[in-house]
Amino acid sequence: MALQKLPSLARELLGLELSPEQCTAFERYSEALITWNKTRANLTAINDPLGIEIRHFLDSLTVLKAVTLPVGAKVIDVGTGAGFPGLPLRMVCPGIHLSLLEATGKKIAFLEHVAGVVKAPNIEFINLRAEEAGQDPRYREKFDLVVARAVAQMPILAEYLLPLCKIGGRCVALKGESAAAEVASAEQAFRILGGRLTQLVPIELPGVAETHYLVIIQKTAATPLNYPRRPGLPSKKPLE
Ligand code: SAM
Repeated sequence: MALQKLPSLARELLGLELSPEQCTAFERYSEALITWNKTRANLTAINDPLGIEIRHFLDSLTVLKAVTLPVGAKVIDVGTGAGFPGLPLRMVCPGIHLSLLEATGKKIAFLEHVAGVVKAPNIEFINLRAEEAGQDPRYREKFDLVVARAVAQMPILAEYLLPLCKIGGRCVALKGESAAAEVASAEQAFRILGGRLTQLVPIELPGVAETHYLVIIQKTAATPLNYPRRPGLPSKKPLE
């Protein structure tokens, strides 16, 4: 089905001109999401095409309000689910090296399928928990940009994201109205893990009542080797 609002909203909100090929790819992504959601995996509560365009695709692309993604940048999306925000970013910035990290195997199967559908080759799919990836030398402190949406509260999320980020790199967490309170509760976690909050960027999405925020954290120092702790511990005993 043809896109309804994504091309005009991406232009107005982000100054982003989607090509006809990119529009087709987003249409196919939406169709695959709806089909798999019905038949194979519980991927998203947002099922209508316009909701998918605004709350998944456009919301994912708002990361570009805070960062530029140069060719060759190494980007990882932690707890990506059905690919958000990482895959839409890769679709408009094809020069990045994208890794999609997701603990659930069924979702990885969808991601592998949909990457083919949208013709986005050379994506790395990592079927691990963030706590495992953060202690794995293949991934630890290897990424220029670490992104995540709707995965965990900020003190827990900091322990998932910061170990994966290079010193000098950035983490961007997509958050809702609770962003400022979450960030305040994560100050100690940032300090322990080698991060520093640099900015909270408010985002208004058309037709969405609540303000969203991009939480930008700079990685300023190496993460101590004992973080992330073993799987499950960050959420059971968040750093405080
Ligand atoms: N980021 C996607 C989005 O915004 O649509 C998915 C959000 S979904 C609510 C949270 C996802 O994070 C789930 O797919 C879950 O399996 C994954 N997840 C939660 N904790 C995780 C962890 N510790 N490591 C890896 N994935 C995790």
